[in-house]
Amino acid sequence: MDIQAILEEIHGEVSPCLKMGRVASYIPELANVPAERFGMAVRTVDGASYAIGDAEERFSIQSISKLFTLIMAVQLAGDALWKRVGREPSGNPFNSLVQLEYENGKPRNPFINAGALVVTDVILSYLDEATQTVRDIVAALCGKADIEFDLAVARSEQLTGHRNKAMAHFIKSFGNLDNDPDRVLEAYFHHCSLAMSCHELCEASLFLANNGIAPMSGDIIMTPSQVKYVNSLLLTCGTYDAVGDFAYRVGLPSKSGVGGGIVAVMPKRFSLCVWSPGLDDSGNSLAGTRALELFTTKTGISIF
Ligand code: GLU
Repeated sequence: MDIQAILEEIHGEVSPCLKMGRVASYIPELANVPAERFGMAVRTVDGASYAIGDAEERFSIQSISKLFTLIMAVQLAGDALWKRVGREPSGNPFNSLVQLEYENGKPRNPFINAGALVVTDVILSYLDEATQTVRDIVAALCGKADIEFDLAVARSEQLTGHRNKAMAHFIKSFGNLDNDPDRVLEAYFHHCSLAMSCHELCEASLFLANNGIAPMSGDIIMTPSQVKYVNSLLLTCGTYDAVGDFAYRVGLPSKSGVGGGIVAVMPKRFSLCVWSPGLDDSGNSLAGTRALELFTTKTGISIF
């Protein structure tokens, strides 16, 4: 199958919808990114890579960081994590507070903001230099030492992230944060501000398609059963409250972020990343979702 030709076809077909989405502006710094950018990359477990468009350009990974922090929390805390965070889709927007009240401060899953705040709290309790370690691990996974936080984005969210601040203090009121909420928030905003390209995100998530082994280094990141758990969570909770429709259309475990990136995993075969900053009403990249749907349709490859 000519994957490169398929990417080129997809690029052409999504072009008309590149301006249809809305770039996230609730974090002011994200609003500066032009909506018509588009990149896509594929990396197979046997070493092939394919790319199209702006696949080498770094963007704000935002909620895709929740995948990496979850992996660290699973490594550090094991099953104890699930006493504090659930594993069900929320059916609510990623930044909603409503369920927290009647579910006693236990977030529905690790991929909504509330869940990621608890996951960040867990990491902070285990590691002295937690935020730097998150950066180091992500950099090692993709083999690029110069992966960095975008401090302008982190500061922009620190200044305007009142909903996340309310959420962290609310969770603390239920006793489900061990650390100071402001410390948790600062770490969380930094994780979200990591800047990476489609290519780098493919590399960093490829172990999820490779039984938990990072193909470049040969390092064992997770056991095969942990990989099964994480990929299942991606499929059921990784793409906001549109997760059912997304799974229907794309058919791959995926994590999206409001920077317009989406990482997808085809177990045993490849990882895939698409970036287009214009978002749909749920917060998923509009052209990115369409591109992934076209990819699994044209190749006939999905987990189903
Ligand atoms: N930093 C963003 C927030 O907390 C992440 C949201 C996202 O990408 O889903 O609102």
